[in-house]
Amino acid sequence: MELWYTEFQTPAVGITCKTSKTYHTEKTQYQDLALIETEQFGRMLVLDGTVQTTIEDEFVYHEMITHVPLFTHKNPKKVLVIGGGDGGTIREIIKHPSVEKAVLCEIDEKVIEVSKKYLPEISCALGNEKVEVNVGDGIKYVHEHKNEFDIIIVDSTDPVGPAEGLFAVDFYKAISEALKEDGIFVAQTESPFFHKDLIKKVYKDVKSIFPIARLYTCAIPTYPSGYWSFTMGSKKYDPLETDINTITDMDTKYYCKEIHKSVFALPKFVADLVK
Ligand code: SAM
Repeated sequence: MELWYTEFQTPAVGITCKTSKTYHTEKTQYQDLALIETEQFGRMLVLDGTVQTTIEDEFVYHEMITHVPLFTHKNPKKVLVIGGGDGGTIREIIKHPSVEKAVLCEIDEKVIEVSKKYLPEISCALGNEKVEVNVGDGIKYVHEHKNEFDIIIVDSTDPVGPAEGLFAVDFYKAISEALKEDGIFVAQTESPFFHKDLIKKVYKDVKSIFPIARLYTCAIPTYPSGYWSFTMGSKKYDPLETDINTITDMDTKYYCKEIHKSVFALPKFVADLVK
């Protein structure tokens, strides 16, 4: 018998993957969690019926949410990740020799636990000596820290449930206060095809707080529409002014110095969202 997993990305469209095994399912304090084997994308982490990450395409999201801000900053030493319990963003941060400390603040300890057990390729840096893992609400954590981080990355689920407040203007204000005077913030901001209003709103909010606001995009096959966006707020450094000759070679599969700036060149319909 064939078994297929479907995520309805909108009420009228979905992604369907043939599955061969279910490793884990549980209802945590915050969400429905599942870890399944898919034929096309390998092991897949699913939260509340939504694909979070897969072995085959995780590199795109994790590299792009990390290396664009870290290489835009001249010397990132202390980095905070809100969400990101699978550990992929932390794995990429740790590749930067300048980083002295990477803090993860994930609300759901079960995501960390299951990722450590079933996604070792992604979660492998969570035990690194430079990494501090906090289980708790990222909103509370950010409000309790001032002038401390060089980079803050919001690696969240969609803006529902515990992640709803991670897309609010008050949260971005608190992020700005938790950053040092030359700090950079990046958040995943959903699909330019399916979440236009959200992208517009986040960009407007970020622009009202940070002197530099930028939107960039990349292709991620398992995320809604296959085309994803990130919004950056920066106090001092503009990614478009990065001297790409200072970008060192790293063990990456998507990010490279040639795309550091080109990802900010937006298709017209996306540029229109942030005009
Ligand atoms: N790459 C993924 C995506 O875009 O679909 C996100 C991956 S990561 C698994 C998202 C994490 O954010 C989840 O594990 C979830 O528990 C966490 N999260 C949601 N709301 C949070 C909050 N308020 N504070 C900290 N973590 C939160």
